[in-house]
Amino acid sequence: MANRLLPNTLIFEITSRCNLDCLHCYNVWKNPFGYKIGELPTIETLDLLNRFLTQTGAKSVTLTGGEPLLRNDLPEIISWLNSRKVSVNLISNGNLLCQEKWIAALCGKISIFELPLLSCEREIHDRMSGFDGAFDSVTRAIAELKLAGERVVSVFVATKLNLPTWAETLELAFALGVDGVMFNRFNPGGRGFQNLQRLQATPEELQMALRIGGVFSICPNSREFPLVTAVPEPIGHITPWIPSEISGPAIIHPRFSETSVKNRFNP
Ligand code: SF4
Repeated sequence: MANRLLPNTLIFEITSRCNLDCLHCYNVWKNPFGYKIGELPTIETLDLLNRFLTQTGAKSVTLTGGEPLLRNDLPEIISWLNSRKVSVNLISNGNLLCQEKWIAALCGKISIFELPLLSCEREIHDRMSGFDGAFDSVTRAIAELKLAGERVVSVFVATKLNLPTWAETLELAFALGVDGVMFNRFNPGGRGFQNLQRLQATPEELQMALRIGGVFSICPNSREFPLVTAVPEPIGHITPWIPSEISGPAIIHPRFSETSVKNRFNP
């Protein structure tokens, strides 16, 4: 019988490097107080993973960062995990993932790709990502992955800047063919802590967003994508307000009536 005290999944930040500079980034190495950064070499990474899997019997690993695709040894790490018969999820910002070589290297090896779609508006997505062209890259990556038959969940980090475009962003995500949309709270750690006033949405704005999500079919704490619900706890002393319906991110599936969506937003 499985030992319930042991974790059955690992969310592994395999690099602190990133090619974006998101306003909302909660990663601790982006905080203004300085934090030791770095990454393990390949051999030590595999050794760490081996010890984790051997000691826990875990059946899934989520690779994240930073941006995992900045590691040249990522295909080797994923192949090794595949050989251990664990499911591998990949969280990427999608900026490199639109390249043919990465699509070819990763397709068929990842259970779920988790990519940000922060707004249907290019300008808002790029502003939140701190990089011009981020929107074009990630939408292309999502489309390429779906064409290749991969499972993709897009991620919406709810802030004051992008919530006004939430409904249309859902429509764009499903038009691109995603399998689900993750509605993520804004965790004000790292760089996000510095942008707290600018980004933190009000309870009313979040409640409205949940009602909009309800039109599309919202599944709080969905078990369908168990790893998607496992987000880090807020860093530091600030606990963001979370609507009572949701204690973590929610998954929204593309089961909606186009008519009801249109009626809601264009009464
Ligand atoms: S939130 Fe943005 S800046 Fe932070 S690690 Fe992810 S992609 Fe990079």
